[in-house]
Amino acid sequence: MTTRRLDEIRRPPEGAGSETSSFLGTAFDCSPLATLIIDQRRRIVRWNKKAGETLLPPTGRTGSFPFQDLFQARDDFDFLLFTLLQQGTAVERELSLKTPDGRNSPYRITLQTFDDDPEIPEGLLCYARDLQENREALNMVAEIQARLEAEIEERRQTEGALQQTTARLQEMVYDYGNRNREATLLSEMGEFLQACQTPEEAYPLIGRFAADLFPATSGALFMLDSQEETLELQHRWGEPVLEATAFPPHDCWAARRGKLHQVQEKDSIMGCRHMAGVGGFFYICAPLINQGQTIGLLHLQQKTEEDSPNSDEFLGSPPDLPPEKLLATFTDHIALALANQRLKQELRHMAVRDPLTGLYNRRHMEESLVREIHRARRKNSSLGILMIDIDHFKNFNDVHGHEAGDCLLKSLGRFFKNSIRSDDIPCRFGGEEFILILPEITLENACSRAETIRRGAAQLQVDYQGSPLDRVTLSLGISLFPQDGATWEALLRRADKALYLAKETGRNRVKTTRDLP
Ligand code: GH3
Ligand code: MG
Ligand code: MG
Repeated sequence: MTTRRLDEIRRPPEGAGSETSSFLGTAFDCSPLATLIIDQRRRIVRWNKKAGETLLPPTGRTGSFPFQDLFQARDDFDFLLFTLLQQGTAVERELSLKTPDGRNSPYRITLQTFDDDPEIPEGLLCYARDLQENREALNMVAEIQARLEAEIEERRQTEGALQQTTARLQEMVYDYGNRNREATLLSEMGEFLQACQTPEEAYPLIGRFAADLFPATSGALFMLDSQEETLELQHRWGEPVLEATAFPPHDCWAARRGKLHQVQEKDSIMGCRHMAGVGGFFYICAPLINQGQTIGLLHLQQKTEEDSPNSDEFLGSPPDLPPEKLLATFTDHIALALANQRLKQELRHMAVRDPLTGLYNRRHMEESLVREIHRARRKNSSLGILMIDIDHFKNFNDVHGHEAGDCLLKSLGRFFKNSIRSDDIPCRFGGEEFILILPEITLENACSRAETIRRGAAQLQVDYQGSPLDRVTLSLGISLFPQDGATWEALLRRADKALYLAKETGRNRVKTTRDLP
């Protein structure tokens, strides 16, 4: 082995302390800096432990490895020596050196001259500090720092996400609560509407539920009349400002288009004609549609003029649930319920009414008589029966035709309805005979009412196909509960007898059972 260590080579002069020599040798060897000694031929002739381990290749450990072979670039080596010559005794540079494992590694190189060693004239001493180690340490610190920062960032993001999730969760709970409340209200309303007997009963209920569902609004409910010509106000809630309480459907964009219509801007040209002159606030018209037909209109408007909320707030719904959806569900419910009630009402009407005159039919008359007699008995009161027959109606038909006869019957029906109190029950008994049931009436009052009807009918002017029909007269017979009988059959028999007497005695007159022999 030709490797020579410093303590072997730099022998102390005779008499000098071997400790010094040994101390320097150990210090040289243990230095954390790779240290090399280079001779005048620029060969590495001595090196310490660190240099042996980290810089010299195995082939270099022979003791005469060219110094320049350590440099990655030959120019670096030349430049370093040149600078050393220029600057004098020492030079320091950061350069890249080749390492035994074939890598290039940055080093801080300090090169200085010495010429106090007779064995090595013009010698050079080289310290090489491995910057890679430093850099690696720095890199590691930077890496740890980055990792920590990433962790902190991650934690912050997690916290942010958690906050967002919490907020979303709260929103969902709120949303769910609202929807739950709306669903409960809608189903409650459905039940109530089903239990209603007539649309009139349903209107105020609809108003109550609309006020609950859309608390920021006032509203009004309009229904199309039977001629389908006019939307008529049926109910209002809150304090809506309305221009018209009855208007043709084409005055409303919603009714015209069969679609919800919102007016959001002040004095908007999009406003409906039925609201012309009372604009300046937001309102929504929603058509009530059943089987493709508009049957009514729900009108909602902003409660106070000062607020100008957007339509979501206006309807009081959370923004992610389109209020139109809730409104549409609401109007669907109402339209269906009202259409059903109308249908039921029509069926009931058909079941109890005579189709020609609109008066109660004979079946209803019998039921009413039973009920009214029962009531009169319980209340210890009276009940009057007016039996009415048109005089010589066969003759009338012969002269004017059956259709003209029908027209007259219709007019008489209307006349009877208008001549009685609300508790009285007008019925078509059959053919050209009518019964008026008059609860709680004395014989005198019944007679005077019968007289009024007789006179009124005789004056009745009926037009048929543009020309007036002949006037007709009536004969009337009156019977009274309880004096004329305890059952409706007995009472009708007695009224019929009185009527027959009226006919016998010249027609166009009133007779009571008192006139009977
Ligand atoms: P009287 O004064 O004795 O009551 O004579 P009248 O002709 O009225 O009596 P009658 O019982 O002989 O005839 C009743 C007529 O009423 C017969 C029928 O043509 C007519 N009539 C009954 N029901 C209807 C109806 O629904 N429409 C029309 N146009 N006529 C009817
Ligand atoms: Mg008759
Ligand atoms: Mg008759």
